[in-house]
Amino acid sequence: MEVHHINSSPYDANAYLIVAPRPVLIDVGMNASYILDRISGIIEPTDIETIILTHGHYDHWGAVEEVSGSTGADIVIHTDDASMLTDSVASAAAMFSGQAASFSPERLLHESDNIDLGNDSGLEVIHTPGHTPGCICLYHAPTKSLFSGDTVFQGGGFGRTDLAGGNQHRLLESLERLTGMNVDVLYPGHGEVSADDPSGQIRMSLQLARTYM
Ligand SMILES: [Zn+2]
Ligand SMILES: [Zn+2]
Repeated sequence: MEVHHINSSPYDANAYLIVAPRPVLIDVGMNASYILDRISGIIEPTDIETIILTHGHYDHWGAVEEVSGSTGADIVIHTDDASMLTDSVASAAAMFSGQAASFSPERLLHESDNIDLGNDSGLEVIHTPGHTPGCICLYHAPTKSLFSGDTVFQGGGFGRTDLAGGNQHRLLESLERLTGMNVDVLYPGHGEVSADDPSGQIRMSLQLARTYM
């Protein structure tokens, strides 16, 4: 699977462009001109069919209206985070000097949904609430790749639960669930991509969350 990691600055969330027969973008960050420019250097932006938002926080979707306008791609998000988009406080848009969304997602996601990449494989939606109610991870089974949003980060990191809709107990349950998965590459919502024993790193995140949360 060809994955491009796109990040405009340390303050912005990661976006991932998956190049496949049906290309997909996972999160977009906040800088539309930067990401559109990067995409143009890789594929025809209008080839992107779907933009998956890992959750409702603005740093992951601030640029999505412009990016979806330029690409024609559908915006999809888990059903439990859809209402955050239009709430400038819950989405943290106000914190980033942004505005609440005026778009509506084209499709709402649920646990175990599949996003087709057009090559007999897809991304499985894994509902991992805790950081927000509708946080998701996306799993690509053939390559054991986990796109983890803000649920788990490399090096033992895990999502904060002190923002609107956060829940420590649910985050622990989500981390426990992820430790049961076989992960070869971790693509987190912030920080670097890691192929250095991601399953071990996720176990460490669970341990640290149990200890310090
Ligand atoms: Zn977040
Ligand atoms: Zn984030």
